[in-house]
Amino acid sequence: MALPCPCGTGDPYAECCRPLLRGEREATDASALMRSRYTAYVREDERYLLCTWHPSTRPTALALGGQTWLGLTVAAFVMDPQDPARATVTFTALWRDGEGLPRTMRETSRFVREGGQWLYVDGDVS
Ligand SMILES: [Zn+2]
Repeated sequence: MALPCPCGTGDPYAECCRPLLRGEREATDASALMRSRYTAYVREDERYLLCTWHPSTRPTALALGGQTWLGLTVAAFVMDPQDPARATVTFTALWRDGEGLPRTMRETSRFVREGGQWLYVDGDVS
């Protein structure tokens, strides 16, 4: 059986986020980019996370690892009605920390599209 994608679409990984992480395909919208970035956290793909991060807010490096990712739920995906190159995605991610304790993060992330590519800008954790 095909490996399901970590992002929770129910699609096989090979047809969902993998082509994005490999640079074979661009995310079609901010929601797909957000999902692929979650998958990159699961796979500890620092290169993909940094190259989908807007240069104005991009860190120089990420401290990945230490978490066991358990799942992603996208609660809302909103295109900016004034500007089709801006969107927000609200999601909940579940993980277990280094001590095995379950954790939840809910964030509304902002995305912009530049040069045809969606990029993560920043987010508000709630
Ligand atoms: Zn996926």
